[in-house]
Amino acid sequence: MPYEEDLFHEFKGHKSLSTDQLPKWTQASKWERASRKAVSRNLCGFLNTGLGGTVYCGVLDDGNVIGLKMTQYQKDHVVKSLNDLMSRYSPPVPRHRYRIQFVPVLSSDMSEKDREELANVDTRDLVDAEERKTEHLLRTAHYCWCDKDAKVQYANMADDINHAADNNTNPLKRLPVLGILVTSYIIEISIQAWNPDAASNKGFGDFLNLHPIHADEDGKIYFRRQARLFQYSLQEIASLTRFEARSRRMTIIDRMQKEILALKKKVVQGKQVKDA
Ligand SMILES: [Zn+2]
Repeated sequence: MPYEEDLFHEFKGHKSLSTDQLPKWTQASKWERASRKAVSRNLCGFLNTGLGGTVYCGVLDDGNVIGLKMTQYQKDHVVKSLNDLMSRYSPPVPRHRYRIQFVPVLSSDMSEKDREELANVDTRDLVDAEERKTEHLLRTAHYCWCDKDAKVQYANMADDINHAADNNTNPLKRLPVLGILVTSYIIEISIQAWNPDAASNKGFGDFLNLHPIHADEDGKIYFRRQARLFQYSLQEIASLTRFEARSRRMTIIDRMQKEILALKKKVVQGKQVKDA
């Protein structure tokens, strides 16, 4: 990975977005700490700094890319659960503040040409448009229909690969098979930095148009600080917001002073013109 975990980048080895998607076995028990934490905490933390950031699912803490195997239906599922999650925040997160991308992870022992070709396969072309409309089972760690379907696809795929290997076919000629083969991805979920002057953000911030502070699906509020997350009390949030409000006020005042100065200049120039 080109990045290390820092203020703006978080690595996750899994794709459990919300706390209700965390399998029971990954949760804290009397004997063990939780082995998995939902992606939601990090998204919340990136929103609340106002600076944004990206969560990479399919990358281990040490930066090792493992990729997550997914079919098109499972990718749809992830997009749906992200939208669902963002709608459960308080206040809800508008669509323009986040972005999701699936970056295929391709084997390094493939030729450059094959990799390029495979990276450009649109898996949406390989699936049934009607089937894609089937509702997914969200807010649970249980298997969804898309997970069951994936199991069947992987089993078929193994057959196809063996078959293709037997025939020694050019890999590009079996694109439909390989299209399914391109199943390992890094899921990049980015929170956009808050732009107080963007028209799309009007009405979401407060009167100074500071970024709103969001509580996650469990009503918890996180802030990203360095590569760590802190859960804040309301008291602390109030003082952080005050601090931020002050610096935002300063930039507004700075800008206004500059504008006034520019106006004054114009007036002076106008006068000179008149005087001349
Ligand atoms: Zn599903």
